[in-house]
Amino acid sequence: MDTKIILSEKELPTKWYNILPDLPEPLPPERHPGTKEPTRLPPPLFAEAINDQEYSTERYIEIPEEVHQAYKIWRPTNIHRAYNLEKYLDTPAKIYYKYEGTSPPGSHKPNTAIAQAYYNKKEGVKRLTTETGAGQWGSSLAFACSLFDLELKVYMVKVSYNQKPYRRMMMETWGAKCVPSPSPDTDFGQQVLKDDPDSTGSLGIAISEAIEDAFKNDDSHYSIGSVANHVLLHQTVIGEEARIQMEMAGEYPDIIIGCVGGGSNFAGLFLPFVRDKIDGSRPNLKIINAEPASCPTLTKGLYAWDYGDVAGMAPILKMYTLGHNFIPPPVHAGGLRYHGMAPIICHLHKLGYVEATAIHQLATFEAGVTFARTEGIISAPETTHAIRVAIDEAIKCRESGESKVILFNHSGHGHFDMAAYDAYLSGKLEDYEYPQKMVEEALKHLPEVNE
Ligand SMILES: *Cc1c(COP(=O)(O)O)cnc(C)c1O
Repeated sequence: MDTKIILSEKELPTKWYNILPDLPEPLPPERHPGTKEPTRLPPPLFAEAINDQEYSTERYIEIPEEVHQAYKIWRPTNIHRAYNLEKYLDTPAKIYYKYEGTSPPGSHKPNTAIAQAYYNKKEGVKRLTTETGAGQWGSSLAFACSLFDLELKVYMVKVSYNQKPYRRMMMETWGAKCVPSPSPDTDFGQQVLKDDPDSTGSLGIAISEAIEDAFKNDDSHYSIGSVANHVLLHQTVIGEEARIQMEMAGEYPDIIIGCVGGGSNFAGLFLPFVRDKIDGSRPNLKIINAEPASCPTLTKGLYAWDYGDVAGMAPILKMYTLGHNFIPPPVHAGGLRYHGMAPIICHLHKLGYVEATAIHQLATFEAGVTFARTEGIISAPETTHAIRVAIDEAIKCRESGESKVILFNHSGHGHFDMAAYDAYLSGKLEDYEYPQKMVEEALKHLPEVNE
């Protein structure tokens, strides 16, 4: 009865899995934010290699040796069997989780940060710009830039910059520069501050600032932490490992669960499995995306063309969206507060290969505390969404007597989110309903695109 399924460094996958050639219908190509015509990623923003990966038709893409070597700092990651949680829930279900919280920044995000830093360095770029919400992406890219000796400027959503100083300190320890957004450093930031000097910022505003900065500086590229095809590609190292590990356990999952903000951690786990559903070999595989009830992109959003950012500088994507100028309520799961979703996940959702469920903040923290008290790990508020759904599915098994195999992605630890746990434990955690009126308003401002 092993609790952990452990891979050796020799077993670290050497290739990422690219779903694009295996999709049953082609992905709608992104549109230029100005002309609204089909386009590739704007070349002055991204490295060539990354641009190529975004649209690649190769099923497997070699992980460069330098990236593979850097992954070994913490990869392969373990799969755990949650025996204590199963016992506590008195369920015949078998619960497994892939634990991504052992990376130096504490989440799955360096899987792509390292690849992006490497390709930019190789093409002679000196400096990267990016945005960050709660700071998990900014700190992951700061870690990666320190490994590949690149400068980094991070625009951090102001409310988080003020509330979560430890993530900023991590970024600075790894050598990055971090400013609160909206900032006076960009034209867009200045404009926002002029209209509202007390603006607390949003992810969409910070993205606009980081893109503007990269456009204006010749030595700089922009780097994105989720949503884009190449980000999901880099994250498939999670699922490629998990396939080997589940085989070692002699199991194939009945249900795969993950939390989704832009969708990268969960896609990283499920894309290498969903191909079995697409080719018909595992027709009953159930794949559940867990999202916050306060920002329910897949369960309440419109499948439409929309900008990736507030200012309309990012490409227009066909995705489920709540409207690019919708600002979600301030739930603690900052990484899940995004108006859109990875086009690959939206496409698979539209075609019926994956499903979604929305969960309230109080219910996620209840699950997070249960998990901490059974399995020991204190999880990121984002991750507790996946844990909630895993627990609910295990309870259904208790009621039906089925011993289903449940696998969820544990995207990161919550060591910098203790104030949120404190609020929950002292009964002060606010819950947020679905802000329907705000979404209806935001959905009036979608760009018009001819199919
Ligand atoms: C950023 C983050 C997420 C959400 O981002 P995705 O791209 O949807 O994976 C989830 N969990 C953790 C711990 C994160 O840091």
